[in-house]
Amino acid sequence: MSIEKEVLIKADHVKVYFKGKNKRSGVVKAVDDLSFEIMKGETFGVVGESGCGKSTIGRTLVRLQKPTEGNIYLKGQDIANLKGAELKEMRKSAQIIFQDPSACLNPRRTIKQILREPFEIHKMTKDLDVDARIEELVKLVGLDTYHLSRYPHELSGGQKQRVGIARALALEPDIIVCDEAVSALDVSVQAQVLNLLEELKQKLGLTYFFISHNLNVVYQVSDRVAVMYLGKMVEIASYEQLYAKRYHPYTEALLSAIPQVDQGEQKERIRLEGEVPSPSNPPSGCRFHTRCPKACDRCKQEVPELKEVDPGHYVACLLY
Ligand code: SF4
Repeated sequence: MSIEKEVLIKADHVKVYFKGKNKRSGVVKAVDDLSFEIMKGETFGVVGESGCGKSTIGRTLVRLQKPTEGNIYLKGQDIANLKGAELKEMRKSAQIIFQDPSACLNPRRTIKQILREPFEIHKMTKDLDVDARIEELVKLVGLDTYHLSRYPHELSGGQKQRVGIARALALEPDIIVCDEAVSALDVSVQAQVLNLLEELKQKLGLTYFFISHNLNVVYQVSDRVAVMYLGKMVEIASYEQLYAKRYHPYTEALLSAIPQVDQGEQKERIRLEGEVPSPSNPPSGCRFHTRCPKACDRCKQEVPELKEVDPGHYVACLLY
């Protein structure tokens, strides 16, 4: 699809640090100096191993988490330090869909009560025909109105995730963060939910920040992909650019793990040695140097900056 070249979100040197559990564990640098833009109408995919900071940046974009430093502009407004009524108002524009649909729906409430909640929180029940809007929402996500009287435990995993999507859509947001939104679902249900997200994007002109540990899934849905490693974005490119050429050795390794069904040559899988280091004590220089098959002495000392190597294709590696 064509993407409007209008910046919806601009993250500028965003850092999110957490205090460690004790003095010895120090400061956990979950997100460390990220700058990127998300265009209106695009799906911006973010991929990386567990603990790389992708969920933290997702939660920060919807201000469930306050950044430690940096600015986040949503439609030109800096939302990084909003509080109180302004923060509440901003939340209408930025919503999130979580990984586990069972955990994020109140088991004691019917689907109708759950979908009514966003309108109650924002005191919109007087001015709006909320019942009609709720019926519209359930139909939009492929459920039926009889589901409204059900409780979450009476629905399948896919149906519960559809409720999660309906709730995220309730206030007509500009951007939705999908945080591992299909990871907990069976593969066949995953495909249905991904198709639904794509349909809704086309119909409602949505923008997604799509987080997954699975590059294959991110590839299927994204217009652009950012690869994260230990709190940093190491490569950002369009889907087509990344498919044609990967520059960063980490992206190359992630991609080599995807089985190729439509190509004659099957690339050899690159196996990364060792675990992801702790974000409270990241390696010096390039954070990937302890696992990188192409690392040299320079990589232990110099921090690579994100550089544009092809138009719109950015990479943080000293080789380029
Ligand atoms: Fe590997 Fe060095 Fe590039 Fe880092 S800077 S990805 S260690 S080659």
